[in-house]
Amino acid sequence: MIHIFLHVLVPAGIAYLFYRDNWLKVWAIMAGGIILDVDHLFAVPMYDPGRCSIGFHFLHTYPAIAVYIILLFIPKVRIIAWGFLIHMALDYIACL
Ligand SMILES: [Zn+2]
Repeated sequence: MIHIFLHVLVPAGIAYLFYRDNWLKVWAIMAGGIILDVDHLFAVPMYDPGRCSIGFHFLHTYPAIAVYIILLFIPKVRIIAWGFLIHMALDYIACL
């Protein structure tokens, strides 16, 4: 539960810090990074609190993360790329 809360709250903080002029819109886009968890639907069991998402679900693998980093260099998708990377960082912290 706290984890999902962080997935919503952390992008809000970053949007507010770096895009104060239109942070609500940026927040909405960044929070969209949570859609990466659709890959959990293909896992059995779908949710396992003891399992680390990073490196397990296909949108949470290192090649996928490399793609998100590349997306940072494309201005049009930069914000959603940040959303994806924040998502990975939060999932990673959850693994520790
Ligand atoms: Zn995730």
